[in-house]
Amino acid sequence: MNKLFSLPMLGQGTADVESLSSYVLRLAYEHGVSAGTLLSSFFEASGQGGRAARPGLGGRTGIETLSRVNAFSKRLRVQLSEAVGQDLFCWPLHFLDKQVYQISTDIGGFRWCPECFAEMSQVGAPRYIKQLWHMAAVIHCPLHRTPLVGTCPNCGSEQVFMHVDTCIGWCGKCGHSLAERAKTLTADDIQPSWACMAHDLLDVFSKAARAGQSETSFGSCKMFVADLLNEFTESMKSDDSMPPDLKLLMAEYARNQHRFWRLITMRRLAYLLNVSLYDLLSSNYRAIQLPYKPSTLKELPTQIKPHKKVVRNHKQEYQKLVAIIETQPIPPSLKRLARLANVSVGYMEYRFPSLVRQVVEKSQAYQKREQLTRRYRAQAAALQFFTAERYSDHTRSRKEAYRVLKEETGLPKWVLKNAIQTAYGALQVGS
Ligand SMILES: [Zn+2]
Ligand SMILES: [Zn+2]
Repeated sequence: MNKLFSLPMLGQGTADVESLSSYVLRLAYEHGVSAGTLLSSFFEASGQGGRAARPGLGGRTGIETLSRVNAFSKRLRVQLSEAVGQDLFCWPLHFLDKQVYQISTDIGGFRWCPECFAEMSQVGAPRYIKQLWHMAAVIHCPLHRTPLVGTCPNCGSEQVFMHVDTCIGWCGKCGHSLAERAKTLTADDIQPSWACMAHDLLDVFSKAARAGQSETSFGSCKMFVADLLNEFTESMKSDDSMPPDLKLLMAEYARNQHRFWRLITMRRLAYLLNVSLYDLLSSNYRAIQLPYKPSTLKELPTQIKPHKKVVRNHKQEYQKLVAIIETQPIPPSLKRLARLANVSVGYMEYRFPSLVRQVVEKSQAYQKREQLTRRYRAQAAALQFFTAERYSDHTRSRKEAYRVLKEETGLPKWVLKNAIQTAYGALQVGS
């Protein structure tokens, strides 16, 4: 197998451990190729050239696949570890994956703390994306208590590029530094430490950061929670003071005893029972002695409170949707319709599949027509530029054509450039 540069995974063994997606992009940058090229040649060299063996790794999906826990990312960690001679294992992710249900649904794409990026550069360290920043529940940097961001301050692009020649910390589209913010922060943007709701996850990341620190057997957490709740309900039998949030959670538990629990449920439970999420997940019988009775009972804070289900009259919603579609000057896309009607795309797809199909078809047909019209317009304008008398003062170069026609038509760049190239080519051949 090809040997790769021995690049260490940053923050390894700490709560700030780097994500695999960040690592792969940095590794590719060090080799002077794109992440796509690096992985393709890596797979080929290790005899896994076939596409079927691995998921598509383009754009957002690629970043998410690498940042989550799945068979592919697990295998890649092992194989890359061998090839670079570094430990690329992520213990906090391993821990969460073992103890909660479908942890990957709580993990998203690239977000970052500009202040952290600035500090990394100040001390001459490479910028990287921490795994913790991928956790959907973490919306503020635990160090700076400032909001994490997901778009470039200059061009607004999300960082979803696997084929880039900038390194992490600079925009993959425009190259601007991501250590800046689009808007200067005000005091209101800085979260007070007591309100920073993700401290429970930070705690899990710090405590589970090292190998073997929190080896618990598969499913033990489920049993622990069952013990805890059973004893707890016993002790509450004569007590009517159980807060409604806890009652709801107990009811949910009763329905789902056989199943693994999602992260959000475990976070709520830990909060309501006044125990740390880490202790709960790691079945820490020493920290939480049974039978357990919390000294204070409280309600959930808004950040982790379950949303009330919106009750909808589906017939009315349908009529509303139809009315909106009729009044739109151009056929709306599904997303736009959802926004206008204040419902989710998922709701429409689930409730009104045939209406959704019509909306999508009409919108796509309209877009297609628009695209064709634009192409015709661009083609006509480009031919005119090179042949018509009224442009005779201009140098008849493609660059000049683009400058003038961009100004005159306002058509998108690639449409114009293609048309100009075609017209130019045709006339060269003709002359
Ligand atoms: Zn920070
Ligand atoms: Zn940018």
